[in-house]
Amino acid sequence: MTATTHTTNWHTLREQVTYPTGLLIDGRFQAGADRLVVTSPIDGAPIAEIDAADAGDVDRAVQAARRAFEDKRWSGMAPADRKAILIRWAQLCEEHREELALLHALEMGKPAREAYNVDMRAVIRTISWFGEAIDKVLDEIPNVASSALALIEREPAGVVAAVVPWNFPLTMAAWKLAPALATGCSVVLKPAEQSPLSALLLCQLGMEAGIPDGVLNVVNGLGHITGRALGEHNDVDVLTFTGSTAVGRRFMEYSAASNLKRVWLELGGKSANVVFPDADIDKAASTAAWSIFYNAGQMCTAGSRLLVHESIHDEVVAKILSIAQEMQPANPLDADAPLGSVVSHPHMQQIHDKVVSGAAQSGEILTGGAPVLENTGGSYYPPTVVDNVDPSSLLAQQELFGPVLAVTTFRDEAEALALTNGTQYGLASAVWTNDLNRAHRFARGMKVGVVWVNCYEEGDMTVPFGGVKQSGFGRDKSLHALDKFYDIKTTWIELE
Ligand code: NAD
Repeated sequence: MTATTHTTNWHTLREQVTYPTGLLIDGRFQAGADRLVVTSPIDGAPIAEIDAADAGDVDRAVQAARRAFEDKRWSGMAPADRKAILIRWAQLCEEHREELALLHALEMGKPAREAYNVDMRAVIRTISWFGEAIDKVLDEIPNVASSALALIEREPAGVVAAVVPWNFPLTMAAWKLAPALATGCSVVLKPAEQSPLSALLLCQLGMEAGIPDGVLNVVNGLGHITGRALGEHNDVDVLTFTGSTAVGRRFMEYSAASNLKRVWLELGGKSANVVFPDADIDKAASTAAWSIFYNAGQMCTAGSRLLVHESIHDEVVAKILSIAQEMQPANPLDADAPLGSVVSHPHMQQIHDKVVSGAAQSGEILTGGAPVLENTGGSYYPPTVVDNVDPSSLLAQQELFGPVLAVTTFRDEAEALALTNGTQYGLASAVWTNDLNRAHRFARGMKVGVVWVNCYEEGDMTVPFGGVKQSGFGRDKSLHALDKFYDIKTTWIELE
């Protein structure tokens, strides 16, 4: 199941695509207490009006998940049987790959082609990988005194609530759903209010694949209503969240004020590309450009800071500016759109306000810096490069979540490391150098969860992903992701 090139006419498919619009509770799509209109950032037009959950609906979903967990219809199934269903689910995602990709583009504005090749590849891989893994995870019997037998067993934690953002709507959902379901937990998913349609179709396919009723539930809705109700629910055992640091903080509060549910947080970032003069400058510059402009900069790992040695500043910046010219936004349903829209008009306005106030504090806008394609009714922001940004200023410290690069120079390695680590975040960063000693030394000094050396965004399902500091804690991907959804039980047996 690998990415393929294809000839879909996304504009035509837009007229034909269908998806559920209800809340998925106990195996059925149902009405909710509220309604939500989903609007496309491509042109500002409404796409659908869907059901949204209030606290009562959330309670029904959690109760359905609890019943399913306790009667062991899924948690008691042999791992090899859960595996077969997850793999069937991945196959159905492959069969519906075009519709799922299209929904990404309609809801949050990324090019449909990229959703097909990148997002859907990750979704399919994630679901099948955790399916494949789950019947190979073993429990432990430690070496203890011969008069005893000790067992260390992993048990599914129970009801998991997963609250996810819109920037990689299905990849983020799959990173939570696949390991949680693989362990035997029941799940209630809350997609972002901007991107519920792709999540509903994804989970409908999960039901078709054979996930039993009540094991996988979806509650659409607004964060402060639906997300909050999940955070505060006393019968949710684990809450796994990807989103902003501000909302991550709220989930810690909800947990403290309710049942002390375990909370896992994948939060924001202010990642850097750190470029030394001995690096492959061409590759470093083009990758740095891609790392901030891709997905219109709406990536937790976006390379939003360029820290470049003063001797190569002009060369690197010139290359980035030429790539910025090539990556201008266009309708994400066009087959060759290099960049789509940002997720919504309010988000675009926030990006722009921060560019304006940030540049007023420090820096010079070299390209971009204002919305484009306004006559479309959509929300398009171009690649923006701000040079000479003071490391303590807004543009170097705050996450804009848009295609905006802040450039700062350094003189030596110690200064570069201090700048790299000089924000509240610690998600990821890259160092570019051909000096092996420096690469290792610098990588060890970086206070982040993920380090890239001479590359960016590389990795696969075998390696964990997540941050330190205010970028959160807990890991998605890899076998480590399973740990979030297990309780570890010790049984000590005294032998006669
Ligand atoms: P967000 O925090 O605004 O929303 C994320 C989710 O939380 C949505 O489902 C939303 O409805 C819900 N939510 C919002 N307010 C809430 C509240 N008061 N109570 C409960 N739930 C609430 O984030 P976003 O704008 O959707 O996504 C962008 C953020 O996500 C960025 O900060 C980005 O860095 C982060 N992100 C992190 C990772 C990672 O893996 N570390 C990956 C992708 C995105």
